[in-house]
Amino acid sequence: MTLFEQDSEYLLHTYARRNLAFVSGRGATLREAGGEEYIDFTAGIGVASVGHGNARLAQTLTAQASSVMHTSNLYLIAPQVALAKKLVELSGLDARVFFGNSGAEANEGAIKIARKYGETSGRYEIITLDNSFHGRTIATLKATGQAKFHDHFAPFPDGFCYAENLADIYRKITPKTVAVMIELVQGEGGVQAQDKTEVQQLAAELKSRDILLIVDEIQTGVFRTGEFVASTIYGIQPDVITLAKGLAGGVPIGAVITTKKEVFSYGDHGSTFGGNFLSTAAAITTLEILHEQYASGALAQTVQHFSRRCAEFAAQHSGLFTGETGLGLMRALKAKNDDIKTQVISQAHNERVLVLNSGRSRVRMLPPLTITVAEIDEGFARLGKACSGIDAI
Ligand SMILES: *Cc1c(COP(=O)(O)O)cnc(C)c1O
Repeated sequence: MTLFEQDSEYLLHTYARRNLAFVSGRGATLREAGGEEYIDFTAGIGVASVGHGNARLAQTLTAQASSVMHTSNLYLIAPQVALAKKLVELSGLDARVFFGNSGAEANEGAIKIARKYGETSGRYEIITLDNSFHGRTIATLKATGQAKFHDHFAPFPDGFCYAENLADIYRKITPKTVAVMIELVQGEGGVQAQDKTEVQQLAAELKSRDILLIVDEIQTGVFRTGEFVASTIYGIQPDVITLAKGLAGGVPIGAVITTKKEVFSYGDHGSTFGGNFLSTAAAITTLEILHEQYASGALAQTVQHFSRRCAEFAAQHSGLFTGETGLGLMRALKAKNDDIKTQVISQAHNERVLVLNSGRSRVRMLPPLTITVAEIDEGFARLGKACSGIDAI
């Protein structure tokens, strides 16, 4: 049996996988089993933030694995403490941190904080946005404002309602509302950045009504948008920020950062794996690498180059795209329809450049934050070849 056939035989059919197996990588370049090299504009959906085969991260992982990986949260874990301190400092918030293992788990933690915060006032409703994505657990599926995710798995927990957009949130607030959870740039929902003034007005209004603002920065966070968190770009101080994807460069981790430092008390929440030596050591090194890039101005230059190439590309292929959108290294080409988007993604694979699907007929790109100018240019050259065979409208 081929690897593809074995995959189909032994794994549940939850993913429409391509028959393509990568075996190694370096930076933003991945090599598949036959030796062909691909330019990776996806970073494993925003996870491989410091690139593939990163020697510094590998060194941290081997050293930590050779020493101690896991002792449980019954004992002090020095890198967990160091990482929490770093996240609090980088966020600029007077906050504390809880660690889990994934984005969905981070959002579950945020939802639990909101529920407990509202307990004494009898409030439990959380408002989220249409086209949002918050995860795959039963609660975070319900928090996700897309009806298609609510098929098959009822009954869901009560207490979630959806707003069409930021302005609609005000209309959805009831005496039971305890929190609003939003992405500042919807990753799955089309890479559309929210309006800064609207976000600031919402944050101020929620604060005045004692409604928590939870910002799901699982995709936008960890320098993806050019700052440590997108909340900084928006000039807001959320009550809860969730992080995951790029935080440990590929090692599973999730984090809840909250200014509501006293809501959880002993026994309210926990995780077996969350915050262990291996994942937190990985996150510390990942943050060191990314912070150096940020502080030296290298990240800003990469953002500038990538966004310029995106804009040029959309203009050069105006038969297929109406423009480009996004923040930092979270970007998308706006295809004229879903059929064009699907063709572009498929043809891009044929030309050995990886790009991602997104809502609103958009082709999403989340390259490693360490991608080089040469890799960016090569990726767009390949994307150009991919688009040359697609009929414009
Ligand atoms: C990926 C993502 C999640 C879910 O993260 P998992 O690690 O897959 O559970 C939640 N919210 C946003 C915005 C995401 O991009």
